[in-house]
Amino acid sequence: MAVREDMAVRATGLALLSLLLATLLAAMVVGGASAAERGRAHARKAVAPAAAPADAVPATPATSAVTPEVTPAAAAPAPGEFPVASEVRLGGDDQQTRMVIDLTDKVDVRAFTLANPYRVVIDMPQVTFQFPPKAGESGRGLIKAFRFGLVMQGGSRIVIDLARPAHVDKAFVMEAANDQPARLVLELSPTDREAFMRTIALENRALENRPGETHNADSHADNKAASDPRPLIVIDPGHGGIDNGTRAPSGEMEKTIVLEFSLMLRDKIEKTGKFRVVMTRSDDTFIPLGERVQIARARQAALFISIHADALRRSEGDAQGATVYTLSERASDARAAQLAEAENQADAIAGLDLSSEPKDVAGILIDLARRETKTFSLQFAQGVVADLKTATRLHQHPLKSAAFVVLKAPDVPSVLVELGYVTNKADLKSLISTDWRDRTADSIVHAVQTFFATRTSQN
Ligand code: ZN
Repeated sequence: MAVREDMAVRATGLALLSLLLATLLAAMVVGGASAAERGRAHARKAVAPAAAPADAVPATPATSAVTPEVTPAAAAPAPGEFPVASEVRLGGDDQQTRMVIDLTDKVDVRAFTLANPYRVVIDMPQVTFQFPPKAGESGRGLIKAFRFGLVMQGGSRIVIDLARPAHVDKAFVMEAANDQPARLVLELSPTDREAFMRTIALENRALENRPGETHNADSHADNKAASDPRPLIVIDPGHGGIDNGTRAPSGEMEKTIVLEFSLMLRDKIEKTGKFRVVMTRSDDTFIPLGERVQIARARQAALFISIHADALRRSEGDAQGATVYTLSERASDARAAQLAEAENQADAIAGLDLSSEPKDVAGILIDLARRETKTFSLQFAQGVVADLKTATRLHQHPLKSAAFVVLKAPDVPSVLVELGYVTNKADLKSLISTDWRDRTADSIVHAVQTFFATRTSQN
């Protein structure tokens, strides 16, 4: 058990002071409107702007763009601006399981359930999570594990993996009283699959416009760029927000490593003056997989580069080096299939209802991907491997393929680069080194230039 009931009393002078500050600030920021209303207003609009063109944003030096974070929810605003979730406790057993979260402020919450796998999702206005480091990694009773973090600007979420179908008996926030902080209380009891699915059907009818599920890719169309004839490259830093991706034993998170690398790559590609660049995310925000693909398609991108970092479980031994992946229905080997499956979990991890994916993304069959796109994807992937070789260590088999959802645009050549393994000591040292990032990003820029030079000369 990572969390215990008796951890409740941890209010130090510092905690009390920050609580007071947070309360004061929240009161100033929120003003007349309730925090929940503010959160919802954000939530409704937030997805498009969050994923919106980072090319409109002035380039920031990669070094200062993202500071190493301790909490998965580290958002742009100062921590004091949002209510703080400081402690989480699980109680009970598999007949009744309780989750209690201490908050510096009362917030409105909404709980709903998702199937395949069985999950409970709790949405709330943006809060700053300051849970102990391993919170959520293990569970109790009906709760197998849970994740928490920003799901969009203005909206936070807790996603609970259930050990079996469960019913949400209670989900509410108690006001602070008698020296006790405000508390989010969730109570679950076991149910069967049939009842679980019935509840989901009822919830779906009652609710609409869930945060994180407003797919509005058309709004990504960039009018100002229409007159710019330079090829558009979409850089896609994997994961983000509530989805941390892989994690090094020492705590470094994939979502942060790949964002920092991608921002550097963006700056370098823009510096050539030959290309436009759009980021699927340029901060710690969650973006659904389908939306990443849509950002590239709606803007008729000439190239899509997804950036990730791999990890092996301890039982799987050790591996190191970079690997470049292209799309294929049948994976090049079992490990590639496994990796694609893991990367494709992002939406489930963030508590998205996968059945609500827009048809034009969910329904894209790999067979429909144009042959030309495949050829170009492979050509670029080979170029990246050749150039990476000069900058960093490559995996034993550096060119692989598997069914990655983010690579499924039928009209945009797409590759996914796994920069290295966060579970390998030497790789991790590289991944967090500015020198290594600089060299490696340079080699990808070179591959990009070669790719377009070859294409142009062929036309
Ligand atoms: Zn990843």
